Amino acid sequence: MKDSFGRTISYLRISLTDLCNLRCKYCMPEKGVCKVEHKDVLSLEEIYEVAKVFVSLGVNKIRLTGGEPLTRKGIVGLVDKIAKLDGVKDLAMTTNGILLKKYARDLKLAGLRRVNISLDTLDEKKYSQITRGGRLKDVLEGIEAAKSEGLTPIKINTVLIGGFNVNEIEDFVNLTKTEEIDIRFIELMPIGEASKWAEENFVSNEVILNKVSALEKVERLDPSSPAVYYKLPYAKGRVGIINPISCKFCEYCNRVRLTSQGKLKLCLHSNEEIDLKDKLRKGENLEEIILNAVKSKPESHHLEDGQYISDSMYQIGG
Ligand code: SAM
Ligand code: SF4
Repeated sequence: MKDSFGRTISYLRISLTDLCNLRCKYCMPEKGVCKVEHKDVLSLEEIYEVAKVFVSLGVNKIRLTGGEPLTRKGIVGLVDKIAKLDGVKDLAMTTNGILLKKYARDLKLAGLRRVNISLDTLDEKKYSQITRGGRLKDVLEGIEAAKSEGLTPIKINTVLIGGFNVNEIEDFVNLTKTEEIDIRFIELMPIGEASKWAEENFVSNEVILNKVSALEKVERLDPSSPAVYYKLPYAKGRVGIINPISCKFCEYCNRVRLTSQGKLKLCLHSNEEIDLKDKLRKGENLEEIILNAVKSKPESHHLEDGQYISDSMYQIGG
């Protein structure tokens, strides 16, 4: 399926839930998360139905995200069904890793290929602080479980936060020396809770290359990936740098997003959404609706002009 700028849309990110077992300070408020009524959330069967239509239209890569996808009951069954869809070449998940130890084996058996795990610090106390109560040990065990079950290549997503983890950049980069994992540094975006944060918390990713001058650029294999990759000489893993604001890969964007309430988002950075849930429940032809919707995918975002979305990341899935 092509959009009106000739880009092939082959990647669907599905947010399974707005709920989460952590409360990362930049992502979710401590209290007062609006509870969405059960009827307003797509059932697992409905998610599967929508995914099936997307796959029939040419989507071959699906990522499950959230909120925290592993808190959604029935997740393994859904993975199993989506993995069996003819045409799905890559099925991945973005998770905070807390429940990964429990689920890694079942997810692998069900057909999940790989996981991206979010981890912003390697310090136990700081982890508990930034996630408001999470245990670092659970994530580290989750990473080990993912490794031993072969949910690979594993990517660690680290949001760079001024005054919090800039002093850990070298520690994260050093993990790639001996581990076959990619560490991806993401610039904090002023959306959701972070929209209220002070300027000094927003740090340019340039600091990584300044701090670790031994990093060498790696050839870009996938132009639709938002990460630019680097490597330490002889390291097993890579270091990815994601600059959502300054780096525009819109020209190569191949992705669309489905929220847990059944809204189709054609661009992460746009407030425009198309309600697929009601149309699905009314028995309308989703194929035609999706094909038309994709035609309205914007050519690019306008973050450089300060145009940020009103949703939070936990509502979209990143
Ligand atoms: N709960 C899962 C997790 O944490 O991996 C999946 C959903 S979470 C919203 C997806 C990613 O969005 C995480 O890596 C998180 O760090 C990132 N994120 C959340 N708020 C962000 C912000 N304001 N700027 C940049 N990244 C953000
Ligand atoms: Fe939950 Fe992920 Fe947001 Fe943290 S970043 S609060 S783990 S959804």
